[in-house]
Amino acid sequence: MEENKISAAETDFSSFDDEQEKEKELAAKQAKIEEDLLLPPDPDAILEVRHLKKYFTLKKTITGKPLSQLRAVDDVSFKIMPGETLGIVGESGCGKTTMGRTILKLHQPTGGQIFFKGVDIANYTQKQMNALRTDMQIVFQDPYSSLPPRSTVGDILSEPVKVHNVVPRDEMKDYVLDLMEKCGLRDYYYERYPHEFSGGQRQRICIARALSVNPAFVVCDEPVSALDVSIQAQIINLLIKLQKERKLTYLFISHDLSVVKFISDKIGVMYLGSMVEFGSKKDIFDNPLHPYTNALFSAVPNPDPDEKSERVVLKGDIPSPANPPMGCKFHTRCPQCMEICKHIDPEYKAIEPGHFVACHLFDDKD
Ligand code: SF4
Repeated sequence: MEENKISAAETDFSSFDDEQEKEKELAAKQAKIEEDLLLPPDPDAILEVRHLKKYFTLKKTITGKPLSQLRAVDDVSFKIMPGETLGIVGESGCGKTTMGRTILKLHQPTGGQIFFKGVDIANYTQKQMNALRTDMQIVFQDPYSSLPPRSTVGDILSEPVKVHNVVPRDEMKDYVLDLMEKCGLRDYYYERYPHEFSGGQRQRICIARALSVNPAFVVCDEPVSALDVSIQAQIINLLIKLQKERKLTYLFISHDLSVVKFISDKIGVMYLGSMVEFGSKKDIFDNPLHPYTNALFSAVPNPDPDEKSERVVLKGDIPSPANPPMGCKFHTRCPQCMEICKHIDPEYKAIEPGHFVACHLFDDKD
C-alpha cells in the first residue's frame, strides 16, 4: 500500500488538463462498457447487473436535451447466485434504493444490462414485466404507508394471488391462511385492517404479500429500519426462515451494518451512486479495503469493552450526485486522499477473487 502511495504521490499533476483527461477517461470507460455488454451472462447467477445507470434529468433544453442530470446509480455491476443474500450498504442518498427499484424496473434504467435468470430485462416493456412480477418482488421500508388502509389482511394477500392465478379460486383462502401462518400471522387477522396492527405485524403482512406469488427474488428495501430494535430481530429471523424454506434470493438494502452482517452472504458498499467495494461478508468485515468502508465500519459500536476501536470521522457532507467531484467521488472526504485521486477516477477491479474495490491505493494490485 505504501508503495502505491509513493508512486501516486510522485505523479506530477501540475500540468494536468482535467477536462481533456476526463474526456479520455470517459472514452476509455465507454469502450470497456461496450466490450463488457457483449459478453454472455453468467448461467449460474439468478441476477447479473452490468454497468447499470439511472440518471434523473433535472434541467432540459427546449429541444429536450438534458442540461443537468442527477446520477443516482452510476455504472454499477454485480451478480447474485440463487439462494444468496446480497446486502447493500451506504449513507442515505447513495443510490441503494434507486438501484433496487431500477433492477425491478420500477424505474426505467438509463443504461446497462439487468440479466434475470439469464435474460436481459433492462428494456422490457411494462407488459413483459407484468409476467415477471411473480418472480421478482419487493418489501418496502415503511409498513405503515405500503398497505391499503381500507382492505382487510385477507383481501391484501388474496389480491396478487388472484391477479397472477397462483392457485385455483376455491383454494385461495386456504393458501392465504397457510401463508399467514408461515409469516407468523394468526388466522383471525384475516378479517382485520392494517390500522389494527403494530409496525412489526404490518411488516409481516408486507412480507406475506411479497411472497404470496412465490417469487424467486425479493428486494428488501430497508425492511426493518422503521421498526423497534426488538421487532427488527423477529423480522430478520422471519426473512431468514422463509429464505431457507423457499430458496429465496434477497437483495437486502440497509444502512444498518449489524443487520447486513447478520443476514448477508455478500456485501456491496455504495457511495454517491457507485459501488466502491464488493465482496463476501468475510472479505468486507475482516478485510475492508476502501477508506469509505473503513469509515463506515469504524462507526459500528464494539460490544467488547477491552477492544479499542478507532473511529474514523468523515469530514464534510456527501457531495451532490448532480455534481459529483472530479476524480474519485470520495476524495473530498477521504482521509487517505492523494493528488491522483483529485484528477482520475479509480478503476473498479478485483483485488482478490470475488473482492472488488475502486481506489487508487490498490492501483498496482491485480
Ligand atoms: Fe481515497 Fe478515493 Fe483516493 Fe481511494 S481513490 S485513497 S478512496 S480518495
